[in-house]
Amino acid sequence: MASIYIETFGCQMNEADSRYIADRAAASGYEISADPAAASVVVLNTCTVRDNAERRAYGRLSHFKALKKADPSIKLVVCGCLAEQDRDRMQKIVPYVDRVFGTSELARLGDALAEWRPTFEGDDADETSEARALLKPIGGTADCVTDAFTHLRAFVTVQRGCSYYCTFCIVPHVRGRFDHRPLGDILGETRAAIAAGAREVTLVGQTVNAYREPATGADFADLLETVAGLEGLDRLTFLTSHPKDFTAKLARTLGTLPQLEPRLHLPVQSGSNRVLRRMNRKYAIETYLEKIAVFREHCADWALTTDLIVGFPGETEDDFEQTLELCRRVRFAQAFMFVYSPRRGTPAERWEQVPAEVASDRLRRLADVVNAGMRTIHDAKIGTVVRALVQGPSRKDPSKLAAKTTDNVTVIAPRPPGPDLSSARPWLEVRVETAHVWGCHGTIAGDAERYVGAAQAVAPPVLSLI
Ligand code: SF4
Repeated sequence: MASIYIETFGCQMNEADSRYIADRAAASGYEISADPAAASVVVLNTCTVRDNAERRAYGRLSHFKALKKADPSIKLVVCGCLAEQDRDRMQKIVPYVDRVFGTSELARLGDALAEWRPTFEGDDADETSEARALLKPIGGTADCVTDAFTHLRAFVTVQRGCSYYCTFCIVPHVRGRFDHRPLGDILGETRAAIAAGAREVTLVGQTVNAYREPATGADFADLLETVAGLEGLDRLTFLTSHPKDFTAKLARTLGTLPQLEPRLHLPVQSGSNRVLRRMNRKYAIETYLEKIAVFREHCADWALTTDLIVGFPGETEDDFEQTLELCRRVRFAQAFMFVYSPRRGTPAERWEQVPAEVASDRLRRLADVVNAGMRTIHDAKIGTVVRALVQGPSRKDPSKLAAKTTDNVTVIAPRPPGPDLSSARPWLEVRVETAHVWGCHGTIAGDAERYVGAAQAVAPPVLSLI
């Protein structure tokens, strides 16, 4: 049978694109493979947001070269942002790649898969492609969604591209300006995903809360309300929001929809207005804090997470101190922290760079402050009973269960006697006993039978469709 292996680098948009590719492949009769060496088609969905992501992608391609040499019939495909950016260079650097598809060419990639399929030997032409689509959940994509519950989740893209042109960001250059999808398309896709078994839907867009329905002008708060009302949907999440478009109306809406996972990711990037202006972020730090205050009025128990860049060109020690102060004040539940990485073709690439050792030192100091804030949040859970959704066995100690609280804190607890809960997806009640920077340890309250009963009601073994 024809099979496809998809490996994904990068953000939620790439993850959603990989799901689209997997669904197109399944509909054309491919089985999803977890092993590139066993696949007829190997797809690398690339990212170019940081230099490291580029280097990793080229590293993986040189690894795949050996597969191609061993079996020249394998089709090697590159897509995603690096493919868009390096399209011409790629033909010289990695000439063994069969096809390169830019970010707007996913439909063409789907067409190519359909075209190649009859050429792979050993195909079983008797099975309908629809039947094959249900054979296996997506689960083999190395850097995509890899846990055991992928079949319960769907990513629905509501918007492509971004028109904000932050001076450090490559996205508008490789994915183009905002392109918002019509509400009818979004609802149709979400309903199809629910009908196929998904219970959790994530609405994705590069700047998702800037969404505007093309015909009616309805905003993101309106969209959330409409999607949350769909029958059969248990959980709704969204990624990624921009502070500029975080309105009081959206904060109010978040507080009224019980289907929403109580977690807001609102990237601030820096605590210094001078740096924010140079980044072209379109808000001042005072505005960011005001918006958080309104958010807290409506969503007091939600987790607030963020992104932070250190060593942005021109960042002084004083600018950096303001970022530290912001983190002490806000206490983010989690922060994704990066040293600035120059991207080809962006304005900031041409500006004077902060020395690497200074930037690394700032990253370390920032991590200390952020970790202290996280530890405080986790300490406050000691002695309480939290609700947490099972993610599977603990990676460090498979004899224990790993679960996520509603505000996204990892909780590790010993497996109770009785049925294996690590392969089901129940909500547990966990009594928190110790806290750490990364999460908490605790013990499960109640009996396992009750939890398994709940899990079976939400775990149909079907493919997630987008
Ligand atoms: S808002 Fe800025 S950082 Fe985010 S995708 Fe748009 S340009 Fe990039």
